[in-house]
Amino acid sequence: MPEFQALIEGFRRFRTGPYREQRLRYDELAQGQAPRVMVIACSDSRVDPTRVFDTAPGQMFVVRNIANLVPPMEAIQGQSSVAAALEYAVEVLRVDYVVVFGHARCGGIAAALAPLPENRFIGAWVEQIAPARAKVLAAAAIAPDIDCQAALEQAGIRLSLENLRSYPFVAQAEAEGRLKLAGALFDIADGDLRILDARTDRFERVAVTLPASD
Ligand SMILES: [Zn+2]
Repeated sequence: MPEFQALIEGFRRFRTGPYREQRLRYDELAQGQAPRVMVIACSDSRVDPTRVFDTAPGQMFVVRNIANLVPPMEAIQGQSSVAAALEYAVEVLRVDYVVVFGHARCGGIAAALAPLPENRFIGAWVEQIAPARAKVLAAAAIAPDIDCQAALEQAGIRLSLENLRSYPFVAQAEAEGRLKLAGALFDIADGDLRILDARTDRFERVAVTLPASD
C-alpha cells in the first residue's frame, strides 16, 4: 500500500516538524477548540479549505461533502452529518461565520447536470439542488451561451445559504447579529477566489497582489 505508506511518512514529517514547532499551540488546543469560522466545503481533494485560506489548526470547523451542499432542514430525516455539524458550530462553538465554500470544476455539480444512473447515492445527494438546476437550465434555454456548470456551482452556493436559514438556530443567530453567512468559490485553475456580494448577488473576485512573475 504505497499510498497509505505515504500517509505514514507524512505523519512522521508532521510529528517531527509542525507538531514540534507549534508545541504551545497544540498544548492549548488539547484543552479545547474555539474556532470562529465554520466552513462547508466539497470533498474534492483539490480544494482543502484549510490550505486555500491558509489557516492554522483550531481555526476552522469544517464539514465536507459532495458539492458542499446544505440540505434544507425539512429534508432531514434522522441522522445528518451536515445538520449535526451545523448545530455544534452555531449552538455550542458559537462561531461568527458560516462559509459555504464551493469550487470550479466540481464533479458533484457535474453529476447534478448529467446524472449517472449507476451511482445511486451520488445522484440522490446532488438531487437536492434540483431547484437551482431548474433555474440554470431555464436561463440556458434563453441564453445558450451560459456555462451551466459554472452557473450551477454559483447557484448551488446560493441555495445552500438559503437552506442554512431554514435551521431556526441559524436564522435566529443571524437575526441577532452574532452570526454571518458567506459564500465563496475557488478555481484551482487560475487560483482565483470569488466572494458572494450580498448587495449585488454576484461573485466578486478577491484582489491579490502577485509578484510580477505570476
Ligand atoms: Zn466539488
